[in-house]
Amino acid sequence: MNFSDNVTLLKGVGQKKAALLKKLNIETVGELLNFYPRSYQDRRTVKKIAEILPGSAGLFSGTVIRIVNNQFIPGKKKMLKITIDDGSSRAEIVFFNAAYLANIFIVGKEYYFYGRAGQNFHPLQFIHPEFSAEMNDAISGILPVYPLTEGIGQNEMRKWQREAQESAKSAEEFLPEDIIRRHHLCSYAYALSNIHFPQDEIRFKEAKYRLIFDEMLVLQTGLFAVKAGSAEKKKGISFSREVDVSEYIDSLSYPLTSAQKRAVSEIIGNMESETVMNRLLQGDVGSGKTAVAEIAMFKAARSGFQAVLMAPTEILAKQHYDGIKNRFSAFGIETGFLSGSVNKKEREETLARLQEGRIAILIGTHAVIQPDVKFQNLGLVITDEQHRFGVNHRALLGEKGKNPDMLVMTATPIPRTLAVILYGDLDVSVIDELPPGRKKIITRAVDGNNRNAVYSFVRKQLEKGHQAYVVTSLIEDSETMTMHSAESVYTELSGVFEEFEVALLHGELKQKEKDQIMMRFAKGAIDVLVSTVVIEVGINVPNATVMVIENSERFGLAQMHQLRGRVGRGGMQSYCILIHEGKSEVARARAEIMESTADGFVIAEKDLELRGPGEFFGTRQHGLSDLQIANLIKHTALLETVKKEAVFILKEDPTLQSEKYAPLKAKILQIFQGSLDLRL
Ligand code: ADP
Ligand code: MG
Repeated sequence: MNFSDNVTLLKGVGQKKAALLKKLNIETVGELLNFYPRSYQDRRTVKKIAEILPGSAGLFSGTVIRIVNNQFIPGKKKMLKITIDDGSSRAEIVFFNAAYLANIFIVGKEYYFYGRAGQNFHPLQFIHPEFSAEMNDAISGILPVYPLTEGIGQNEMRKWQREAQESAKSAEEFLPEDIIRRHHLCSYAYALSNIHFPQDEIRFKEAKYRLIFDEMLVLQTGLFAVKAGSAEKKKGISFSREVDVSEYIDSLSYPLTSAQKRAVSEIIGNMESETVMNRLLQGDVGSGKTAVAEIAMFKAARSGFQAVLMAPTEILAKQHYDGIKNRFSAFGIETGFLSGSVNKKEREETLARLQEGRIAILIGTHAVIQPDVKFQNLGLVITDEQHRFGVNHRALLGEKGKNPDMLVMTATPIPRTLAVILYGDLDVSVIDELPPGRKKIITRAVDGNNRNAVYSFVRKQLEKGHQAYVVTSLIEDSETMTMHSAESVYTELSGVFEEFEVALLHGELKQKEKDQIMMRFAKGAIDVLVSTVVIEVGINVPNATVMVIENSERFGLAQMHQLRGRVGRGGMQSYCILIHEGKSEVARARAEIMESTADGFVIAEKDLELRGPGEFFGTRQHGLSDLQIANLIKHTALLETVKKEAVFILKEDPTLQSEKYAPLKAKILQIFQGSLDLRL
């Protein structure tokens, strides 16, 4: 059997099973072997029944002392009950609707079982355990557990994998000898065998290390090749070196932080060079990304090009616009605004001025992507809070100019090493420093029973003329959980803070209504804003000093961090109060992290540890499986090693022409198929 053979060559795989396997992206024997276990069951020792705790799993044996077949419980299924004894204790083995098994078990004979004990222990009961009349490697050893789909059982999958092991033995090595030696890697064949059926921990670790190394190396070498390809191909605009941005920087009411300066010089460097800029500007909430973006736009405008800044919500776009309009008009640079709520006449006027090239800076929501929005010479595209947009939105905007420079801003803190991988061809600038003088936001986690104390604290802030956010995770009450919905909290707080203005904001309101409420909050006409997470993104209300998060156990750390960033934006001491229900360990651990650190990067890493990457990154726009990402996060040190190796490889053979790298190249092409700019 070969790697390229169809899975139907395996015993027990017919058309039906093949179709199910296809759902798991397995069509060939090679793909089957590359389908790795999610975890393992350690069944190396046969336990005494008396040692097995209720609720835990184990391998045990026992002699059948009684078989009771077909017990009929009215309204229930037929039951086969087998009582066994191993000298230490008795146990009951139960099968439902499986009368045929009655003839397979023989009283007086010994069998091996593997299963999870129920909660009752008089006697211990096992429902539908695996069993075998003899000790063999189907029931004992270290057995793989696969992430399967309905219609395929673990045992079935194990059987197929075992059969495929024959081919694993002859798996061709695809890494050159020198790399294997340099990194003390086991062979590929060894890895494929021991990742499925390891004999012990050491062999398993060797196998896993090798496979993670492979994944990372293929990925990293591929990404470097893509990057080299796009840099080579895309000649862009060289913005004038004559244009000095210090004039604009000096006009700001504050000096830039050194992190901002670094980002500015990286961006300006890209803009002046003739290759297209593809840069991610990453910085915690409030780190001053907008100012950096403005400087880049100033550079573009003064060089005779247009720039566009796209924000994910109307309110954010408007906020950017108001500030930028004032600052740019001082330099005689014209700005324009587009969103869904701009009326027809204004819109047409803006479009005309834009096309004539009179508006140099356009700011707006995704309304700026519309086909009738035409620029005269678009040179710079900036998107704010990129995770809200799809990658293709970026591309659509880019097409409105001739290879304009691109800057993507995000407040989602991703560990630096990871960002490079996840954003593939983007360069990364990080603003890892907040402007000076920011007061640390005091964060406290409290139990739901202390709600009244929280309210009286909030009242004191309101009496000082400050404003508060109260965020909930639900709109309406749920009957099944102790949850504080936006509606019920709103009703309650309207009573508690009778003399203040309390408003409710949630995602099901029309965009226009949401914006109106936000505008009123921004103006100070609303004191307490009860909201679902719709306010998560970048709104700036410096007078708000309290952020209360209800049912904080329901929120991710990174999300809470974003929410917390909504306060502390003025000079006043601000507070974040996390109200949690229940007393779970994890909730406690999370609260402690929030209380103890304000560093978005630390929080992001913890969040990834606690929640896993799937939720964190949302959809898979980066083309990596969750498993790979999980590995990337856990093994950042290895990633550094791999990166060096990838650089070394491409230096030796930039397009992987040599025979030495042919198999590696084939793997890279498999993954990066759709990538136009791959320079291989
Ligand atoms: P971000 O977009 O990264 O969340 P903003 O650009 O909105 O952050 O900046 C937050 C606030 O900090 C704004 O009010 C801005 O004027 C201010 N700010 C930005 N840079 C500095 C700085 N270097 N020193 C002082 N204040 C700054
Ligand atoms: Mg911002």
